[in-house]
Amino acid sequence: MSTKILIIEDEADIAELEKDYLEVSDYEVQIARDGESGLQKALEEEFDLIILDLMLPGRDGFEICRSIRETKNIPIIMVSAKKDEIDKIRGLGLGADDYMTKPFSPSELVARVKAHLNRYERLVTSNIKRNEIVEIRGIRIDKTARRVYVNGEEKTFTTKEFDLLTFLAENPNHVFSKDELFREIWDMESVGDIATVTVHIKKIREKIEYDTSKPQYIETIWGVGYRFKV
Ligand code: CA
Repeated sequence: MSTKILIIEDEADIAELEKDYLEVSDYEVQIARDGESGLQKALEEEFDLIILDLMLPGRDGFEICRSIRETKNIPIIMVSAKKDEIDKIRGLGLGADDYMTKPFSPSELVARVKAHLNRYERLVTSNIKRNEIVEIRGIRIDKTARRVYVNGEEKTFTTKEFDLLTFLAENPNHVFSKDELFREIWDMESVGDIATVTVHIKKIREKIEYDTSKPQYIETIWGVGYRFKV
């Protein structure tokens, strides 16, 4: 997927120059020529980075930056022809990631764009917590969401049924005695005994097995216990 950049800039020559340089670096670029349409585009479409001029007809860069920041945390590079304006906006803490004074070299802009995109990508990637999934022959256990799907269909499990199924599925082919399972799942709770394990296994089988009299997943090893077959 291409990386999309929005340039909000009323000076056509500058906007085109920036666009040319960014496109050479394989970015997909759109230009908005005034504050109003720029803000609208920024909020309604998905961009990876915004280059925002400070002095614009309609809404100015201050206002636009503030509005974008209310909902998006993509990198914003603010540009201005006035050095003292840059100092001022820095001090305002609008949430821009970088500031450049015009005229700047387009390759300098591209370098900064790259740096900010890389930094942002690292940030986003580190914040994504992937769900932990256990998947065995048509059974999909989403440990994070605590949901179980059997051949794509979601089944409802009680807390202990879920814990027991997950434990067995995560330790496939290992035979566990009822005692071991009871200690593992029910832990130090005083209520219940190993018969509880049998009851729970039965309930789990009703939800995951096609034919409970011929279990394909949780196998009974007579006189020993249970194992999850792979
Ligand atoms: Ca301007």
